[in-house]
Order: sequence, then C-alpha cells, then structure tokens
Amino acid sequence: MSFYLTYRPQKLSQLDLVLSRQAISDSLQSKIKPHAWLFSGPKGTGKTSSARIVAKSVNCLQLKKHSPEPCNRCSNCVAITKGTALDVIEIDAASNRGIDDIRELRDKIKLTPAVLKYKVYIIDEAHMLTKEAFNALLKTLEEPPVHALFILATTEPDKLPPTVVSRCLVIQFNQATPEELVRALNRVVKQEKLKISAEGLARVALVSDGSFRDAVKLLEQLIPPGGSRQISVERVAGLVQPGLTSQALDDWLSLVFKRQTKPAIDWLQQAWKEGLRPKQLTLAAIARLRQVLLGQLGVIETKAIPGLEDIDALKELLKQLLVAAIEVKTSVIDTLPLELAVVARGQSEPAAPAPVPGPAVAKPARSKEKILSKWPQVLAAVKPLNHSLEALLRATEPAEFTDGFLMIKVYYQFHKDRLEEERYRAMVEQIATKVLVTPVKIKYFFEGLKPVKDEDIIKTAEEVFGVDVQGGD
Ligand SMILES: [Zn+2]
Repeated sequence: MSFYLTYRPQKLSQLDLVLSRQAISDSLQSKIKPHAWLFSGPKGTGKTSSARIVAKSVNCLQLKKHSPEPCNRCSNCVAITKGTALDVIEIDAASNRGIDDIRELRDKIKLTPAVLKYKVYIIDEAHMLTKEAFNALLKTLEEPPVHALFILATTEPDKLPPTVVSRCLVIQFNQATPEELVRALNRVVKQEKLKISAEGLARVALVSDGSFRDAVKLLEQLIPPGGSRQISVERVAGLVQPGLTSQALDDWLSLVFKRQTKPAIDWLQQAWKEGLRPKQLTLAAIARLRQVLLGQLGVIETKAIPGLEDIDALKELLKQLLVAAIEVKTSVIDTLPLELAVVARGQSEPAAPAPVPGPAVAKPARSKEKILSKWPQVLAAVKPLNHSLEALLRATEPAEFTDGFLMIKVYYQFHKDRLEEERYRAMVEQIATKVLVTPVKIKYFFEGLKPVKDEDIIKTAEEVFGVDVQGGD
C-alpha cells in the first residue's frame, strides 16, 4: 500500500491543515452538531481523511469528555478505519454509479443504522452529481433523519447548487503551507525510519504545490532502491515535482524544441496519466528554459540541453510556454494550453533570424474565405490531441464566419451532441482561436440528413468509435 494510504491521518490531531482542523473540532463540540458538512478545497488536502475522522468522532464509543478526538480503538472506530463499517457509505459522484447510489441513499436513508449511532454518507467529488441526483439529495438535506450525517467533498464548490451549499456547514481546505507539509512528511519519516535532511524535506514540500498527497508520494519515490533508508541531497535536488526528474523534463523539452509533435504529445498524455499537473509542468518547463537561456548567454552556469542552442528559438518557445502558463489558470481543460503550445510549435516554421528584434506577431486571418480555408489546419492541430474529435470534425463543414462566430454544418444529430460537449467545444474553440489568430466562438448547426455514401458513414463511425463496423461478428 502506498505511503499516502498507509499514513493518511486517522485522528483530528493528525490533520495537518491547522485552520480546517480547528474548524472541524469546534463544530464537533458545538451544541448543535451539523447534519451536513461541505469540505471544499483542492485535491490532496485531506478532505476524505477528515470526513472519515468525523465519522469516527460521532460514532466513537469511548469519546472523552470535552474532546471530539476518536479513540481509534473501540469497535466502531476500528471498523471505520478498516472501511468495513456498513453505516459509513462512501459515494464517488464521479463514477457512473453516482446516480444509483444517490437513489439508493434516498430510499434507504430512513432505515436506522445497522450498528453505529450515525449513518454517515461521504459524497466525494460532489460537484459531479447530476441534476437529478442533486434534487434527490436536496430533498434529503431538507429533512434529514436524526441518525444521518452527510459529508460532501468537492474541489469545485462553484458547481454545487446554492440550495445544497446553504444547507451545509462549509469547511474550507486550503493548500497546505510548507510547514504543514513538513509536519505531515515528518510523520512518515519517523514511522518509516527514513533519513533525510531538513532542507531535503523543505524542498519536497516546496515542489508539492500545497498537496499532502503529492508531498508524501514524492517522499516515497525518493527512497533509493536496495533497502537504504538514506535520502541523499542529490536525490532530492534531481526532482522537479512528483514523478518528474530533471532529466525527463529535459528530454521532453528537447522533443518540443525539435518540433517532434507526436512524441512530445504522447509524453504529455503519459505524464497526465501519472498524475503530473499541467500548471506545475508548465512552470517547471519555463523555469528550466530560462536557466538554459541564461546559460547560453553566459549569465549563469547550468547543464545545457543538447540541441537547444538557438537563442531565438529558445525565446520563441519560452513565449509560447508563458502564454500556456497564463491560459492554464482559466482553461476548461487544464491540459490543453500546454498541448496546444506543443502543437502550435510543431506547425510553425523554424524561427528565422529576425532582422528587427521584437515580438513576432502572427497576422490574423481576416476574410471569411481565408478563415474557412484554414479549417484543415484546425483539424491538423486537433488530430494529435484527440483522434475521434478530429474524425467527427472531418464529417462537418465550416459554412460561415461572422462576428467571431464560426458556423459549422453538422449532418447527424449524434455528431452535434458529441461536438457540443463542453470539453470538445472548448478544445476546438481554443485551437481555432490559435490557428486563425482571432477570437473564435463555434456554433454547430444541424441541416438534416445529407445523402452520404455508406462507406463515409462507416469510415467515420469506425474512427469515432474505434471499432470495425463492417466486420461485425
Ligand atoms: Zn472509538
């Protein structure tokens, strides 16, 4: 089991976010205990751990007077820690089962707990609940049975209906400070008998971006193979962020620099899978390129990245990453700005030495014809990011560009439905804006069934669904 799971906090005193811990303790001791809580804050800040601790506190059989700290020894505490308590129901709203779980919740909530004093419903990623699920939940929150307790956890409180939020006691989980992270790390260091310097721990905390999960994961990765418990200064220094070594970052930058779009994008897809976060990677890449640039100029001494010697090209790449760093904060899909930077670079011509220094400004496409003629470039930019989206777009036809709106003709309702999904629409709009160098909003419109050749439909269906439609079985 990973360190993060092994060493997740089991009691209030182990919650390292000082303010959240205090707020939870106070509420647990108040005369009127809340029936519904909302734990709101970024990933990896301990919301789920805290929810389980609250479940223990309200159900502990040996609670001391004037302290909400669960004993962690009674049968109730032990069952909740082990995850075997039938009356503590964890629902992952992000999973397909979310809606069924809420229905079941509504049906079964009136039943008294099987063993514990309180039935505790922990609803993770609560913002992912469907409208129907929220309505069901709201009904329950309006008249909660005395034996029930709800703890909603979310990374995106803005997406919760205000009617639900107003019925909850909101506890804010902020990003952990370096001191709070070090406190959490020290617990692991002690238990695992690791040897690491105070500076080493501070460095781990620094690159973990306020996340306990990242910090603990990073510490685990730093343990050298072969049984030694000593984590050297060198090992810590080589890490840029959890899962990313300085060598891996250099390799990726080298791919981007050489315009090897496909491998560079593949690298990113793998990185996202492994939990790297776009904002952190973008900042790490910028910091590294800055070093390389200053190194080239002879200002500082740094390890060069082979192949990254052209100063103009370095500057150009830095600029593209700086744009990505700004966009990553507001992008609907947070991986997209960095992916787009890679694609855009792959498409642009290698930088020729500019006669006049200054920012290179691409000329915006103006006329309608010109914009429509650039549509294939939009498709080409979409393809490495999402094959099935590109296949869908190929089955459409751009028709009109007026007042910043690109009207796209769609021939099938199910194409329109897919293309209008928020993440797809956002992706195409951002790419079109980049390629056409003018703000683009996209409207898909439906024009009945076009007489399309069967083989076209089959081809598109195969590409979209990744199946062999003709073959059958
Ligand atoms: Zn107990």
